Amino acid sequence: MACGTGLKGGQAAHIGFSCEGAKQDRESLLVRILAVADEVDEALYYERVRRLQPDLVVACGDLPFDYLEYLVTMLNVPLLFVPGNHDPDLRAKPETLGAEDFTRPFLLGSLRRERAGPLGCVNIDGRVVDAAGLRVAGLGGSIRYRQGPNQYSQRQMGARAVALELRIRRKGLWDRRPVDILATHSAPLGVGDGDDSTHRGFSSFLRLTARVRPKLLLHGHVHPYGRLTQRRQIGGTTVVNVVGRHMLDI
Ligand SMILES: [Zn+2]
Repeated sequence: MACGTGLKGGQAAHIGFSCEGAKQDRESLLVRILAVADEVDEALYYERVRRLQPDLVVACGDLPFDYLEYLVTMLNVPLLFVPGNHDPDLRAKPETLGAEDFTRPFLLGSLRRERAGPLGCVNIDGRVVDAAGLRVAGLGGSIRYRQGPNQYSQRQMGARAVALELRIRRKGLWDRRPVDILATHSAPLGVGDGDDSTHRGFSSFLRLTARVRPKLLLHGHVHPYGRLTQRRQIGGTTVVNVVGRHMLDI
């Protein structure tokens, strides 16, 4: 199932295809994903990142914005991200308002909802978007363990998950396309999460995954500290901890 990436230190996987049997399909059908989270991979600097040739980058939080901007600039493919608990609050961007905006008060509401973050990247927190031929939904943030943005109680994340499920269903009404990837910062409860209060996963991710059945759930937040991360399943969904850098073809 696993294949080499051509770069030391990464992990690669083909979800739903074997490496040998799918060479031709791979040319035409597979979408190659570079998934990153939490730890900057120095091996991706100095032009080497171009060798990976991904079709899409999915970033699962807690990475410096200039690193994400570097990736999107070098690769020139869509980069979708969700914020982690160490990222700033990206829900509003009032600093984008200029004096002229106040002459158009009917636009203020939409301007206040403009999403901030790394330039050239798409914040998919609480949203479902289509990119590189895939449908991707996102839920950022961790369990609340201290003061700060992007932290939620189980109940708060439960409400966010229900709202996202409704958006997914509404979007699917038009084209009946399923969600291919659910990108989160935290793990689902009991599926690759931590025992401590900081790294505990969300129970609502289990329900959301069972309901929308993505092929992949990608998350960060749980540092493997040099150990190989184990892939897990929730029904037909493969759950991958992408802290550092992982290559996946689906
Ligand atoms: Zn985190």
